[in-house]
Order: sequence, then C-alpha cells, then structure tokens
Amino acid sequence: MTERIACGTVNCYIVGRRGACVLVDTGEEKYADKVTERARLAGVRLIVLTHCHIDHAGGAAKISDALGVPIAMNSADAPLICGEPRPMYADTFTGRLLLRMARSALKKRMTPFEPKVELCEGLELSAFGAEGTVLALPGHTLGSMGVLCDGELVAGDAAFDLLSPCRAKIYEDKAAADESWARILADDRITTVHVGHGGSFHPDRSRPAMTPVTE
Ligand SMILES: [Zn+2]
Repeated sequence: MTERIACGTVNCYIVGRRGACVLVDTGEEKYADKVTERARLAGVRLIVLTHCHIDHAGGAAKISDALGVPIAMNSADAPLICGEPRPMYADTFTGRLLLRMARSALKKRMTPFEPKVELCEGLELSAFGAEGTVLALPGHTLGSMGVLCDGELVAGDAAFDLLSPCRAKIYEDKAAADESWARILADDRITTVHVGHGGSFHPDRSRPAMTPVTE
C-alpha cells in the first residue's frame, strides 16, 4: 500500500501495511500537523527522507518529535540540514527555469534534526518494524534514496513529472542522475514510480520510458 499525502507541490507517502509503515518525506514544516495526523493513523514506525531539501524534509523535526519515531536519511545529504549550500545544475531550458525558482527556496533554513538511521543501498526496513527496501538513487542530491515496497518505488526527486516523466531536471551530479534514472527504468522489480512532484508512472521497458498511471 502506498498512500500519497499532498503538501503543496510536494508529495509525501506512507508506504507499507498499517502499523508497519514508513513515512517517506515530510513536506515543509507548515504541513507537519496534517502529515503527523495521517502518519499516526497509519502507524508509522520510521521517517525516511529521500533527500534533504526543505520542501521534502522541512517538517521532519516536528513530525519526528510528535510521533516519537526516528529519522532515516543518507549522510551525504547531512550538510543540507544546516542549509550549507551545494551547487546544483541543469542542462535544459525547463531545468534552468526550475533551478532559478528552487534557488531561493533551498536557501531557507529548516528546523534542524539529528538523523538516527543511515540509509544505504539494499537496507531492509523490516529492521524498523516496517516494510520496504532502500534503493540508492543519487544525482538530484548526492544522498538521494528511494523506497521500494511491493513493486512501488517512491523515488523522491530522482524522477520528475514535467508534462511527462523524466530524470531529475536539476541535479548536483548529472552522470549519477542519468544512472539513477536508467536504473529505475531497468529494474524489473519496479512496477510503479511515485515522484516528489507530480503524478505516478509505470516504467515502460519496451521503449524505454514511462507511462502515466491512470486510475
Ligand atoms: Zn529536491
């Protein structure tokens, strides 16, 4: 089961069975009460951050305190908690536009927190009483990760939805972003991809590309 929680332009997700699930991303702090309520109802055991941009992680401190559950992320993104700027790049017109919009947002400071769990490739979330496996999807940020559960991948910003699904339009490392996108398309365990901004998709391995999920 993957449940989407819309927080403005960002999607957070609750992944796994009721009582054995993780919250993937938190949205900004202004959405913390809404997300906390949904997470409490679902029985969230762990907060997983796909990466440490404020629109995905800004509510982590408040939600972790309210629920009494730890925060997991990859330590490559730890400098971003304190707002340490790291250069991002784009190679398309749309990407450069997004980058301009994102720059001021990414300068905002989030309420700091101390991650208790290091996310790494292949980590099984069963160790925390939840379901899902962690996939390393670096590129958008150096520490970008995804969670795969029952064929559904929550990819954070490793995939974007801009008119059609595509790899991260803005990134810290282009080669890594390309590799992560190729990996998502090629991994035949993945049947559905849920992204940080926009809709959900099925990898279409015959093209290769993605087709929108229509429900
Ligand atoms: Zn991001």
